Amino acid sequence: MGNRRLLVDLDALAANYGVFVAAAGGRAVAAVVKANGYGAGADAAALRLQHAGCRSFFVATVDEALSLRKALGPDPEIFALEGPEAASADALAGSAITPVLNHPGQRQLWRRKQGLPAAVHVDSGMGRLGFDTDVDIADFDGMPLSLLMTHLACADEPAHPQNAIQLRRFAAVVARFPGIRTSIGNSAGCLTEAARQGDLGRPGIGLFGGNPFIDRPNPCRPVAALQGRVLQVKTLPAGASVGYGASCVLERPASVAVVALGYADGVSRHLSGRGSLFLGGGRRPILGRVSMDMTVVDVTGVDGVKPGDWAECFGAQLPIDEAALDADTMAYTLLTGVGARVPREYGPLNAH
Ligand SMILES: *Cc1c(COP(=O)(O)O)cnc(C)c1O
Repeated sequence: MGNRRLLVDLDALAANYGVFVAAAGGRAVAAVVKANGYGAGADAAALRLQHAGCRSFFVATVDEALSLRKALGPDPEIFALEGPEAASADALAGSAITPVLNHPGQRQLWRRKQGLPAAVHVDSGMGRLGFDTDVDIADFDGMPLSLLMTHLACADEPAHPQNAIQLRRFAAVVARFPGIRTSIGNSAGCLTEAARQGDLGRPGIGLFGGNPFIDRPNPCRPVAALQGRVLQVKTLPAGASVGYGASCVLERPASVAVVALGYADGVSRHLSGRGSLFLGGGRRPILGRVSMDMTVVDVTGVDGVKPGDWAECFGAQLPIDEAALDADTMAYTLLTGVGARVPREYGPLNAH
């Protein structure tokens, strides 16, 4: 049996999709499943979301789009956010992927695919991909446009003035693209004002259980749990050191559990000496440095911890946003940082 796993609760994923559908008030809600479905497994996640009624999917790369098309079949629309390149345009066209056109070069490229639909991305203030806000529908003459989209830089802070500025700029562009479906909100945007202004929501992180907001309670359920088994439990004497660099020297004797989860599995090395893993009914402080395959935690005074027990880095017992805070990061990087060698197992999060 394996010593590590990422448990993924697809029912919780579907329930989270329901949160966004309910907030959308009748408007359509897509799912963003880039980066292997935020680490959870793009195919399994997208199939479950499709079953829950989702008809539109966004991924980042062409490869992600082609692989998703194989998994989902011909029905749903699939958008590739990075858009076409000369080498990938034929493959996109052949798999009925809708590329997101981000700049004039991509528009020129896709124009050669006579009559195939495209989405247009407008940079309304993110300063990342997208056409300038002076983009005009005439530039896309003869090209069926299935979506006009923009992305907000500060949606996770609903009161940030940047949101209103971007929405106003985008509205001016929308006015020049009459009748074209629009898309604005990411997870946070879908749950705030931006939602009521776009036709198609684009949530990602919230579907996978991360909190879309910086300073509001998380409206979404945990979907993924990163767990590793205890490999060894032992007592170390006062003065003993733990881990590389001998950076942790015990002041008193301690019971320690060696857990099969390291930075190669997705335990941030920033947790060295400061974070915790959930084990034996509570949070156990990490001792010393996180290494590639293992993390050592202090289980002094905790009864019954034994080899084979599951410890959790984040999940139903240790909320991912709290684990992320300890590691000076956000849920996005914890989810997408889960190692390729960690098997994804689908089922309830507290399975033992
Ligand atoms: C990643 C991404 C999303 C999803 O954002 P979340 O914050 O994960 O909800 C939406 N739109 C674009 C353009 C993205 O790159």
